[in-house]
Order: sequence, then C-alpha cells, then structure tokens
Amino acid sequence: MEYTKPLPKPDVWSRPFWEHAKNGVLATQACVKCGHRFFPPGPVCPSCYSFELEWKPVSGKGKVVSWVVFHQLYYKGFADEIPYNVALVQLDEGPMMYTNIVGIPNEQISMNMPVEVVFEKATDEFTIPKFKPQAGG
Ligand SMILES: [Zn+2]
Repeated sequence: MEYTKPLPKPDVWSRPFWEHAKNGVLATQACVKCGHRFFPPGPVCPSCYSFELEWKPVSGKGKVVSWVVFHQLYYKGFADEIPYNVALVQLDEGPMMYTNIVGIPNEQISMNMPVEVVFEKATDEFTIPKFKPQAGG
C-alpha cells in the first residue's frame, strides 16, 4: 500500500535520528562535555555550546505534556484517521518531541500520561516513532 502522508526530509543533523528509528532505536544527541540530552538535533549543545556531540539511545519512555486533536483535514493522507492527535512527549531523559499517541482513543489521552515508544514502518526508508500508553500505566 502506498504511503500518502508527509515524510521527513532529513538533513545532516536529523539523518541519524531517522537511521536509528529505522533500526527500532529511539535516540537523541548527547553532549560529550556536559551530558545534556537534546532534541531536535543541531550542531551545538544548547546547554554548554560544545560541538562535541554523540548520538545515544534513550529509554523510549516519557510522558504526555501537551496534545491537540485535528478535526480539519490538512493532508489527504490522514483522511482515514480524522480526528487524529498530535502530542508533545517529554522523554524521561528530558528532550521533548512531537509525535502521535496510538493504541487508545483520543479522549483517553491525559496530561502526564506515561507513554513508551513504538515504531511504525512508513516506507522502506522511514520508520516513524510514535508513543502508546506504558504497560500497566
Ligand atoms: Zn553540553
């Protein structure tokens, strides 16, 4: 089946994120100097301004800190999923990322809900990290 939703356009900074995701690993940059974890990716540590950065896996666990539910169709590829959510998840390691909460109805999403990453293969090139409620959470 053809994938009709928008796909990422990786650049030199974000490409490692998508390569990790394709392998089922959620990762962010980590500062070698001060250990700060951050996302979205960039060339410099936003905490100490070091250029010494590395990519490291995260636990894949976090919590919902904000979300919206789209009722308006902006992209044809989402037609079958209206209404769908777009959430901001804060990882246990600190960084926040935009994502979708899956596995539960939109009405059951709640503030600070513990969530964990799941990977949805979109195309041969891209696997999209999404989040579901943590087991037992
Ligand atoms: Zn740093």
